[in-house]
Amino acid sequence: MTTRSLLILPGDGIGPEVMVEVRKVIDWFQSARGIAFDVSEDLVGGAAYDKHGKPLADDTMAKAQAVDAVLLGAVGGPAYDNLDFSVKPERGLLRLRKEMDLYANLRPAQCFDALADFSSLKREVVAGLDILIVRELTSGIYFGEPRGIHSDDNNPENEGGRVGINTQRYTSGEIRRVARSAFELARKRGNRVCSMEKANVMESGILWREEVQWVHDNEYPDVELSHMYADNGAMQLVRRPNQFDVIVTDNLFGDVLSDAAAMLTGSLGMLPSASLGAPMANGRPKALYEPVHGSAPDIAGQGKANPIACILSFAMALRYSFDLLAEADLLERAVEKVLADGVRTADLMGPEGGTPVSTSQMGDKIVQALAVL
Ligand code: NAD
Repeated sequence: MTTRSLLILPGDGIGPEVMVEVRKVIDWFQSARGIAFDVSEDLVGGAAYDKHGKPLADDTMAKAQAVDAVLLGAVGGPAYDNLDFSVKPERGLLRLRKEMDLYANLRPAQCFDALADFSSLKREVVAGLDILIVRELTSGIYFGEPRGIHSDDNNPENEGGRVGINTQRYTSGEIRRVARSAFELARKRGNRVCSMEKANVMESGILWREEVQWVHDNEYPDVELSHMYADNGAMQLVRRPNQFDVIVTDNLFGDVLSDAAAMLTGSLGMLPSASLGAPMANGRPKALYEPVHGSAPDIAGQGKANPIACILSFAMALRYSFDLLAEADLLERAVEKVLADGVRTADLMGPEGGTPVSTSQMGDKIVQALAVL
């Protein structure tokens, strides 16, 4: 029998509330579809600090390294704002990302028809949108050396006398491994990859383009590959986003482009994400799934949080860690059905008003939709 191990780290604020709804979905797949998951749960962030004096216990880190996938809620909150930097809740999340070496960050931008009017773009531009941005997460200009702010004393022409330096640096190996992630993901979707860089003005962009092309030609000739300058990519994302399937790009461009793409779809409460690393011995990639939103202390404990971002993060785990593509589609269709039926948490209420459902009612509705689809 295939084992599917999943470590759940609910975290702080609304994290535990939305995770309860994910557990309902997991229970449904186990009882109604006979798909077994080996689920364990542990602490991260402020919750871990309260118990262990640090935001991620070594034992939890070891568990995260051993499972097929980690699903995290959110970390942080006002109670922890004044802690020393080294034990702040966010350090727990950063430790997971670093020690698991999660170099590919996946940010889907998917527009559910019922929410198309929430987008800042016209309905006809975003309707049916389903794209995936793969951002390189562990290298590039945010990590490159040399870096720093130095005095520029020998340059009398420089008013202010200082210079700020960051270095865009990529090795061919770093580019190839994230390109492989993008091609693998494309094969599970629309089979198309668009790689974005600035090969017209940056040597690192030329290397990026050549290496992505190399991986394509040698390992993924069946996937359609195109290249685009990242500035044009930004324009195309707001002009005709539907032309893309998977976009692969570096850390800096990916940071900007994925946030722009997120806004195409509306509420923060709807946005899932994943970070993937190298394949493990069983062929599955190291993986951390989490909603894009934070712990939302302003609504925590009130039953107002939208659990869909976290539920869609689990759908990504079904697709990308467990190869359960039909089940991932089913879960996304259940979310779509519930939204089409007009069920809304408070963050999704439009100007027409209505009565919002609670976090728990939204979870129940999604499970009911799973059962009828
Ligand atoms: P946030 O994402 O927590 O909240 C921003 C706004 O969006 C709030 O008004 C909140 O109520 C709303 N919101 C967020 N998620 C929602 C949901 N699922 N349903 C309904 N409304 C939702 O960002 P913030 O307020 O800047 O940060 C709050 C705390 O979260 C801070 O401690 C911050 O450090 C932390 N944070 C954690 C993560 C993470 O765990 N990955 C990410 C961002 C922020």
